[in-house]
Amino acid sequence: MSIKQTLLTRSGNQCELCGATEHLNVLEVAPSNGSAEQTVLVCQTCQNQIEDPSTMDVNHWRCLNDSMWNLEPAVQVLSFRLLTALRSEGWPQDLLDIMYLEDETKAWAEAGLPDNEDMPPTKDSNGTLLQEGDSVTLIKDLVVKGANFTAKRGTLVKNIHLTDNPLHIEGKVNGTQIVLVAAFLKKA
Ligand SMILES: [Zn+2]
Repeated sequence: MSIKQTLLTRSGNQCELCGATEHLNVLEVAPSNGSAEQTVLVCQTCQNQIEDPSTMDVNHWRCLNDSMWNLEPAVQVLSFRLLTALRSEGWPQDLLDIMYLEDETKAWAEAGLPDNEDMPPTKDSNGTLLQEGDSVTLIKDLVVKGANFTAKRGTLVKNIHLTDNPLHIEGKVNGTQIVLVAAFLKKA
């Protein structure tokens, strides 16, 4: 049985996002191995808007209110990503707040989000790009709150970790893992 036939049977011959019954196509949910479990049956209307987000019609995507509860992880993942893309509208964020995904499904859903690429880079005081594992030196004395010591200017911090915030990195000073402000650092 072809993947499309499998999906037609699974969906009851309809778009797994909006329920339309015509012009149905197989859409891979990346990263995917192309198997039926990692594909979704979508109509032309849904597919066009997914492939060209600038043409998204917000009202069409009210259908996500239903598709997010589909039992197929691939449909959940696609719904999650579309809701995320539309969340500035308000109601998609409300749906995301109540949406439930298994850990494995959530990891898959997040792997396809563009967020990581959009995040501004972490830079030191000279504007040099800092990367995971770099070594840096402090360009001023820093009082380490809670640890009761001052990290002296010139202190070398090896093997830094980047954080979700491009203004901060994590590193070990005096054996203590602390958050450092990237603007007070220089790449070593
Ligand atoms: Zn559709």
